[in-house]
Amino acid sequence: MEASHVRPEADGMGAEQAAEGSIRLQLPDGSERSFPAGVTAAQVLAATDRELAREALVARLDGELVDLGRPLERGGRIDFLTARDPEGRKVLLHSAAHLTAQAVKRLWPEARLGVGPAQEETYYYDIELPEPLGAEDLPRIEEAMRDIVSEDLLIRREVLTREAALELFTLREEPYKLEIIRELPEGATITAYRQGEFVDLCRGPHVPSTGVVRAFKLLGVAGSYWRGDEHGPRMQRITGTAFRSADELEHFLWLREEARRRDHRKLGPELDLFSFHEEAPGFVFWHPKGWTLYRQLEAFSRELQLAAGYREVRTPQVFRADLWKVSGHWEHYRENMFLMEREEEVLGLKPMNCPAHCLLYKEKTRSYRDLPLRLMEYEGLARFERSGTLHGLLRVRGMHQDDAHLFIREDQIQEEIARVLELVEREYSTFGMPYRILFSTRPEDYMGDLATWERAEAALRAALEASGRPYRINEGDGAFYGPKLDFMVTDALGREWQCATVQLDFQLPERFDLTYVDEQGELRRPVIIHRAILGTLERFIGILVEHYAGDFPLWLAPVQARIVPVADRHLEYARRLERELAARGLRVEVDGRNEKLGYKIRQAELEKIPYVLVVGDREASAGTVAVRSRAAGDQGALPWEEVAGRLLEEARERRAPAAER
Ligand SMILES: [Zn+2]
Ligand SMILES: [Zn+2]
Repeated sequence: MEASHVRPEADGMGAEQAAEGSIRLQLPDGSERSFPAGVTAAQVLAATDRELAREALVARLDGELVDLGRPLERGGRIDFLTARDPEGRKVLLHSAAHLTAQAVKRLWPEARLGVGPAQEETYYYDIELPEPLGAEDLPRIEEAMRDIVSEDLLIRREVLTREAALELFTLREEPYKLEIIRELPEGATITAYRQGEFVDLCRGPHVPSTGVVRAFKLLGVAGSYWRGDEHGPRMQRITGTAFRSADELEHFLWLREEARRRDHRKLGPELDLFSFHEEAPGFVFWHPKGWTLYRQLEAFSRELQLAAGYREVRTPQVFRADLWKVSGHWEHYRENMFLMEREEEVLGLKPMNCPAHCLLYKEKTRSYRDLPLRLMEYEGLARFERSGTLHGLLRVRGMHQDDAHLFIREDQIQEEIARVLELVEREYSTFGMPYRILFSTRPEDYMGDLATWERAEAALRAALEASGRPYRINEGDGAFYGPKLDFMVTDALGREWQCATVQLDFQLPERFDLTYVDEQGELRRPVIIHRAILGTLERFIGILVEHYAGDFPLWLAPVQARIVPVADRHLEYARRLERELAARGLRVEVDGRNEKLGYKIRQAELEKIPYVLVVGDREASAGTVAVRSRAAGDQGALPWEEVAGRLLEEARERRAPAAER
C-alpha cells in the first residue's frame, strides 16, 4: 500500500546520466572505473574490494554518505566506511537506535517515537510511553532486538513527497514525526527507512540490514522531554551502544565501568579531597588532603617554570570595566564574566590574566634586550558557566591556572615555542600521559598582516619539527588573533583530554599599545604567547584522580605513609617516628586507635596510602619499621632512617608508583 508513495530515487542530473547508461566512479585506490547507472555501492565494493566488503557499513560519494544498497545515479569519488571510522560508527549506532525503537514498538504498540540520534560512542531514542520504563525492562527490549537482528531484515530507503510522508506517519499514529515533517522546509527531500514492519522518518544512512548490528547493549533509561523542553511531553530516553564485535563491546563496557569506579566526583569525597556546596556552585571546597595535593601540583609547576626563566607575579582579582573594554573581553566575553556595580561603576572579576599582565608590561619602557619577558601567575580566575554545565572539578566557575604570558620579539617565536614544548614534555611525562599536538593555522578572518602570520606559522612548524613530536595541522582553525597549539592528553583509560594550550597573539599588543625599543632605537610591537600547560588546576586534579584511580604517586599523595603501632605500648615509638619523618619533610600520620592491626592496615589500603609502616616489639627495640608498599607489597623490616631516605628520594624524583595495581 505504501509502495505507491515511493518516488524513484533518481532526480535531476542523475536521471540524465542514467539515461546514458553508465557512471564513472573514482575508487578509493585512485583508479577510475565505469559502472552501469543504478549500480549499488555494495555492488561496486563486491567488484573491487572483497575484503572491505565484509567490513564496510556505508559508502561516501563526493563527501556525502550513502547507503550501500542505494542505486547510484551519478559518478564521483567513492569510498567506504567501516565501524572504525567515526562516521561509519555513527551509522552503526543510529541503525541500533532504529532497532531499539522497533523492539519497543513490538513490545508496546502504543509507543510514540521521538528522535533517536547517534552520538560519539552511544545512541539514544526518546520514546513516549504510557508508563515509565525501568532498568528491569531493558533485558526484554534487548531480547526483542536480538530477534530483529536474527531476522536480518533489509533496511530500505524510501524517498517521499511531503503529502506521502504526512499520510504515512498519520496512518502510523506518530504525532512527533508529523511535527518534524511539518517543520521541514518546502522542497526538502524527505526520506524514510523501512525494516520489516517498522518505518522511521530518517535522513539516514543506515547499514544494509538488521543482521549487521550484532553486538549491542542498552545502557540505561531515564526520563526526558520532547525536544528537551521541560514544559513539553514527557518521554523515556533509552540509551545504548553498538559495535561490530562482541570483544569491542566488552572492552567498551569494561572501560565504562572502570570510568565509573574512577569518577572523581565519587573518589574525591571518598578520599576526603574536596567537596562542593550549594551555597557556592562551581567553586571548590578543598579539604586538607585535597589542598595538600593541590599545593604539590602547583609547586611542581612553579619549580619547573622558575627554572625555565619564568617570573611569578600576582595581580588583582577585580578590575574596572574599562580594562575589559581595552582587552576585548567586554565585547566578546562579558556573558562569561562575574560583574558588579559599585559607586556607579561596573567592576568585573578577572576571567583571565592577560590584561593584567599587559598592564605590568607597560610599567616600564622595554628594550629588545628585556625580551622575552615571561610572566606567570596562579591567582584565581572566575568564569560564569551555566549551572547546568558544571561538572565536578572538570567544569568549575572558580579556577586557578598555570597561566603564563610570554612577551617576545617576533624573531624569538621558534625558540620560545621550543622551550614551551620542552616544559610540556617534562610535565606530562611525569604523569605518564602521552599526548598529541594539534596545530591550528590562519583562519579566513585573520587579523594582522599576512607576512607576520606566515613567518609565525613557519616558526611554529620549525619548533614542532625539531621537537620530534607528532602533530596534526588543523588548517584554518586558529584564532583570528594568532595560530595556536592544543595538546590532547591521554589518560590511563585511553580517554583524551584537552589540557595544554599555546596561543600566539598579534592583537593584544595592539590593543594595549605594547612596545619595545629595538636595536635601532625604533618602537616595535612585541608578540604575546598565552600558554597554560596543566591548564586549569582544578580540572587537572579531576583528571589526575581518574587517571590514577586515586592511587597517587608518592610525591602527590596527601598522606605518604601511615605508621601503625601493633599495640598501645608501641605508640610512643610510633609518635617519635612521626616527628622524625615529618621533620625530614614527609607527610605521615599515626593510626593510634585501639583497633586490630589487620583492620588498621585495611583502612590505610582503602584510603590508598602509598606506604604503611608497622611497628611492634621487634621494630621498636631495633629502630626499624616493617614496610608495606601499596604498589610493591611487603618490603620487610628496615632501619627507619633508610626508609625515610628511600621515600624522600621517590618523592623528590616524582617517580611513578613502582608497580601497576
Ligand atoms: Zn533514523
Ligand atoms: Zn592569556
